[in-house]
Amino acid sequence: MKIRFLGVGSAFTTPEHYQSNLLITAPSGRNMLVDCGTDIRFSLREGLPDNALPYEAIDAVYISHLHSDHIGGMEWLAFLTYFNPHQPRLRLYMEEATMREMWRTSLKGGLGCIQGKRMHLTDYFDCRPVAVNGSFIWESIRFTLVRMLHISTGYRDFYSYGLLMADARKAGPAIFFTTDTQYRPHLLRDIAQDAALIFHDCETSPVRSIVHAHYLDLRELPAALRTKMWLYHYQPDPKFDPEADGFRGFVRKGQEFDLEGLI
Ligand SMILES: [Zn+2]
Repeated sequence: MKIRFLGVGSAFTTPEHYQSNLLITAPSGRNMLVDCGTDIRFSLREGLPDNALPYEAIDAVYISHLHSDHIGGMEWLAFLTYFNPHQPRLRLYMEEATMREMWRTSLKGGLGCIQGKRMHLTDYFDCRPVAVNGSFIWESIRFTLVRMLHISTGYRDFYSYGLLMADARKAGPAIFFTTDTQYRPHLLRDIAQDAALIFHDCETSPVRSIVHAHYLDLRELPAALRTKMWLYHYQPDPKFDPEADGFRGFVRKGQEFDLEGLI
C-alpha cells in the first residue's frame, strides 16, 4: 500500500501546498481518495500519473468530515462521474450520520436535480455508510474509523473521523491518519499502541484555532510517540524544525509513503 499526499496545507492554504487530501494506492493499483476538497481538480492532476483521468483512476472515496477543504470537490466529482456513461459509480465510505448531513446541508443544493430528474447521493455514488467507530475493508485493507473531536460549540460537538489502516488478512501494526482533530494526547497514546506510524494534522500559526492540534502542544508528547509522527495540515512556511524536536518531519506536498512490509 502506498499513500501519496496530494496536499499538506490547511483550509486556507496556497497552491504550493494544496489542501490535505490523500491518495491511497493498493497493491492491485486501485486508488482510494481520502477527502476531496476544493483544490482537488488541481492536486489530483499533479498527483496522478501522466494522462490518468480522475474518474478512471479512482475506485473509492473516503470523506472524514464536512469542511470544504475535505468535501468542496464533491460536486465536481459527482457530476464528472455521473455524466460519463462508461463510469461505474465510485464507492463512497463515510460515517453514516455525516454522510446524511453532507447531502442535506452541503451537496443537495447543487446535486439535488438534473434536467428532468430529482437526484440523491445514491444516484452519484455507491454509498457505503459506516457506523461510528465501525470499519470497512477495501482491497484487503481494514479501515477503522476513529471519532476525533474537531469543534465544540457548547451546544453540539462536531467530529472528524480519523482512519486506522491495517492489513485485513493478518494481525499486525496499523497506520493512523488523524484527519482534523483537536489535541487529544490520551487518545493518541492509546492509538499509538497499535500504530507503527501516525500522520497528525498540525497547526503552526501563531494564533491558535483550537480545532486543530498545535505544533507546540504536539511537541509536549512523549518522545516514543513523536518518533512515530509525521505532521501535515500546516500553514505555509512553518517556523519549526520537527526533526530536531523528535518528529519524523513535515510531510511535503506530493510526498509518497510506501508502506509495503509495514502493515
Ligand atoms: Zn476541518
